Amino acid sequence: MITRDSVITCPRCGHRKAERMPADACQWFYECESCREVLKPEPGDCCVFCSYGSAKCPSMQIANEPRCK
Ligand SMILES: [Zn+2]
Repeated sequence: MITRDSVITCPRCGHRKAERMPADACQWFYECESCREVLKPEPGDCCVFCSYGSAKCPSMQIANEPRCK
């Protein structure tokens, strides 16, 4: 079962926000609505959801590999 809902936690200020992930694209940038920090994936991660979200992105859930590069 694939979940498209992920809660992103800002590493700078700790703000949490539930976001809906796109099914077929990875999101490289995410701006925290609280502190305006622009988050980028950590090395080895394919998108901001894999780095900061409560759930990995759909392509990682399906195939355990990023399909978005
Ligand atoms: Zn923040």
